[in-house]
Amino acid sequence: MELTTEQMRFWSPEVRKLEPYIPGEQPKLQNLLKLNTNENPYPPSPYVVDAIQAVLANQADVLRLYPDPDATALKEAIAQQQCITASQVFVGNGSDEVLAHIFKAFFIQEHPILYPDITYSFYPVYSQFFGVKTKILPLNADFEIDIADYRQPNGGIIITNPNAPTSIALDLLSIEEILQNNPDSVVVIDEAYVDFGAESAVSLVSKYENLVVCQTTSKSRSLAGLRVGFAIAQPHLIAALETVKNSFNSYPMDRLAIAAAVASFQDQDYFQAMCQKVIDSREQLVNGLEALDFKVLPSKANFIFVSLAHKNAADLAAELRQHGIIVRYFNKPRINQYLRITVGTDEQNQRLIDTLRNQILV
Ligand SMILES: *Cc1c(COP(=O)(O)O)cnc(C)c1O
Repeated sequence: MELTTEQMRFWSPEVRKLEPYIPGEQPKLQNLLKLNTNENPYPPSPYVVDAIQAVLANQADVLRLYPDPDATALKEAIAQQQCITASQVFVGNGSDEVLAHIFKAFFIQEHPILYPDITYSFYPVYSQFFGVKTKILPLNADFEIDIADYRQPNGGIIITNPNAPTSIALDLLSIEEILQNNPDSVVVIDEAYVDFGAESAVSLVSKYENLVVCQTTSKSRSLAGLRVGFAIAQPHLIAALETVKNSFNSYPMDRLAIAAAVASFQDQDYFQAMCQKVIDSREQLVNGLEALDFKVLPSKANFIFVSLAHKNAADLAAELRQHGIIVRYFNKPRINQYLRITVGTDEQNQRLIDTLRNQILV
């Protein structure tokens, strides 16, 4: 909605200047193939639905009562799955909320925070929102992070690993080097996609007092609709996040979300099987697109980042849409000839390939 200055006169002056994040579209149309927001094509563990039904069946009356403000059961389930302690876990309403608290808790500093030019587009939004200074460091020509860049005065560092939307992962040794080069800054690794084949930095948390690892149940656990994200760090950093959270919303995790997410973390076999299915489908999808002459960046995520020489990416996205397939196009410098495509089921990926081969690239 476009508003006039007159209509915005009641707004806080700061809010008038905000440029909010634009989420990928959630179309209402039937029979659309949604490969645009990196959701998991498989349902969550069947125990997740059982757990929600159990809350409602046995104790609907508990909805009258506030949930546990510390979501202790959930922190314990995450700690057990990650082989850490509950005191090293922070939970929030999606990892976007966890990231917001991270920006507020650690990044409002004299020096700018550092992050790559091509990365999760919520970072500039939070930076503006919280008044965080930023210094943006270009990825190299192959869209890789040059860790030597992250060796300069800074007020913090945030890196998505694997990166989005490039899908490229950084190895653990490089992350460790960044941590060692920045002992006085908080280094945040946003691991929204780590379960699809990259190395997690959770194993470094007990060794580095300046490391925060952020993960989500939205992608690898098929729970984007539940809104559960978490951070893992040493207790002195978790305490800062709790301070911010309890200054904003004491109950970000409702009873249904806590019960459902606990069930997901307790069903490790299902989780691993679904991640492996997505990884296998990704490799098939990459082969299929390469056979159609697409250039595909090496992916460790549940999406791929592709381009096609001699074909405008925005046009290609529009043509796919006409055939009922939605992918993500970013009209931004350096990446405006790429498409980000979420890995679907084998059948969905085949529909994409067939549509390209038989209808668009003929
Ligand atoms: C999807 C995503 C998130 C947010 O996940 P939610 O838990 O659904 O809020 C955070 N960071 C990156 C890089 C993501 O892609």
